[in-house]
Amino acid sequence: MPESIAIVGMGARGLSILERLVATARPDRPLVVHVIDPGPFGVGVHHEDQPDELLLNTVAGQITVFRRGDPAAHGTCVDGPSLAEWAGVERDAYLPRRVLGAYFRDAYARLVGAAPPSLRVAEHTTRATDARRAPDGSWTLVLADGTRVSADFLVLATGHGTLVPSDVDVAAEAFVRRHRDRNRALAYLRTCYPLAGLSAIARGSRVGVRGMGLSAVDVVIELTEGRGGRFEEVADGELAYRPSGAEPVIAVWSRHGRAFWPRARNEKSPADVHRPRALHLDAVHRLRAEGPRDFTRDYVPLLQTEMRDAADRIDPAASISHLAGLLEVPTGRELGPAEDRARALAAFFAADERRAEAGNMTDPVKAATDAVRDLRNEIREAVEHGGLTPQSHRVFVEVYAPLLHVISAGPPALRARQWRALLDCGILRLGPTAAAVTFDDEAARFRLLGADGETWDCDAVVGAAVDPFLPERDDDALTRALLAQGLGRPYRNGDYHPGGWDIDRRGRLRDAAGEPIGNLCAVGNPTEGPHYFTNMLPAPGLPSRITADAQHVVEALEEWRLAPRASSPSPIPEETVV
Ligand SMILES: Cc1cc2nc3c(=O)[nH]c(=O)nc-3n(C[C@H](O)[C@H](O)[C@H](O)COP(=O)(O)OP(=O)(O)OC[C@H]3O[C@@H](n4cnc5c(N)ncnc54)[C@H](O)[C@@H]3O)c2cc1C
Repeated sequence: MPESIAIVGMGARGLSILERLVATARPDRPLVVHVIDPGPFGVGVHHEDQPDELLLNTVAGQITVFRRGDPAAHGTCVDGPSLAEWAGVERDAYLPRRVLGAYFRDAYARLVGAAPPSLRVAEHTTRATDARRAPDGSWTLVLADGTRVSADFLVLATGHGTLVPSDVDVAAEAFVRRHRDRNRALAYLRTCYPLAGLSAIARGSRVGVRGMGLSAVDVVIELTEGRGGRFEEVADGELAYRPSGAEPVIAVWSRHGRAFWPRARNEKSPADVHRPRALHLDAVHRLRAEGPRDFTRDYVPLLQTEMRDAADRIDPAASISHLAGLLEVPTGRELGPAEDRARALAAFFAADERRAEAGNMTDPVKAATDAVRDLRNEIREAVEHGGLTPQSHRVFVEVYAPLLHVISAGPPALRARQWRALLDCGILRLGPTAAAVTFDDEAARFRLLGADGETWDCDAVVGAAVDPFLPERDDDALTRALLAQGLGRPYRNGDYHPGGWDIDRRGRLRDAAGEPIGNLCAVGNPTEGPHYFTNMLPAPGLPSRITADAQHVVEALEEWRLAPRASSPSPIPEETVV
């Protein structure tokens, strides 16, 4: 009987597991790999039916499924093209997201095609809804189409979760139902994904968009260019927006009033990554040896040193004064009238677009923020698996992680130019800072109530964010089934739950009693909590966390294979076991 492994979820993370399994397959050890996803396999969140205006935030040359040159692959990898090679585009091109979906689908086919005869891939185009574990540890998975699948080992690569609605969501949805007959434009979208849901936003209505990051960029482009408007270059090289008439008026707001920073033009080769002198792995290990640390006190100064170093290497005399204090906890200084803040934002964008255009090895500020990208592994080492005190972990997740994301993981500079054009023509504006959503029953409208008392009334509210994975609030049947059986528990650092499954360093889920389950692993977003920044795709020639995580799964599989255990019948009748 060959061994078997089931991978639930075949997006980028599922591909990474498949790649490791194919790359390390042995002719003398038959293996069945069950692949379970409603499909299409490989594509995951990067659906191929998305419109062209939805771009990747990563350049094509920095994405690959194939791991040549990645140290975590230990020299064993399946050969294949990077996204740029596959699409035949320049390394610096920002491709439509649907192209990445097509590349992933092709990569899946290549991996299956590269599998030796000893490795058989069994495809199940449906969702997994339950998983039962027999006393000998073997799994029986229940699929939505009624099929049951037996497997020795189970991997969860399920990507972004979907939360059940919160009390605020339920109240907002009830408000919409109550008053929809009086205001046909009334709408509440808890999350903007899938973006097709934005069709509920009426033309000419007023919509409040909660969030000013990458998801807000998606919402704004869908409600403007996606509705037939056009951005045109005008005489001075600026963009002007020509409305189609189908747009709403959009007000964006966020807790801290901070918007995305445009991503710098990439000038770096793998050899140019920032080499730390303060925030290096030895320093992190020394600090961690003394117990959980405080991020603000112990790591922020090191990170600031690295950012300063990266800027100084380009121009020691350059003023990067606006970097000073950047990593301090925000004080709410972004408060003020919306028009003033909008003018300040447009001025910031204009300056930052120039910096972004200069590039990440030419502009000192962009070099400094790009160093943060290069230091993600060091930051991970500092914060993951209880590296911070519970209180500091909360501050890290709520303050630093979004801040680091804003400055180092923004969209292409084109988006900032487009936002300036939209601010200019009045289709886009800033909502009250840190607004609470309240209900005006009399007017049948939402009222955004800012921290300083500023208000803005609107017909629709859209949450511009991807749901975090919170096991106890997740909407997925498989998650609920695992929790109910104690086969997994939410990760907690002391009394703080940042999200994610509780896992050990090999990615093995801990059961309700805290014991690692030897043949159950999770990778990617379901581990965001014990892990940090799990959704960065692998770049050619660079060490990738995705590869390392997948390698850990393969090692855990091997460990499980060698562990002695008793045999036991499956707990579910097997009339349809595949
Ligand atoms: C809108 C958006 C844009 C992004 N853009 C970028 C970008 O430009 N660059 C970048 O590096 N990253 C980007 N990301 C981050 C993204 O998380 C990663 O690129 C990557 O796709 C994550 O891969 P994954 O396999 O973990 O998750 P996913 O791609 O979400 O795949 C998870 C898969 O699991 C399946 N699944 C879930 N539950 C079950 C179940 N119970 N049974 C069976 N199947 C199940 C789903 O159907 C899905 O196919 C973006 C994310 C989003 C949401």
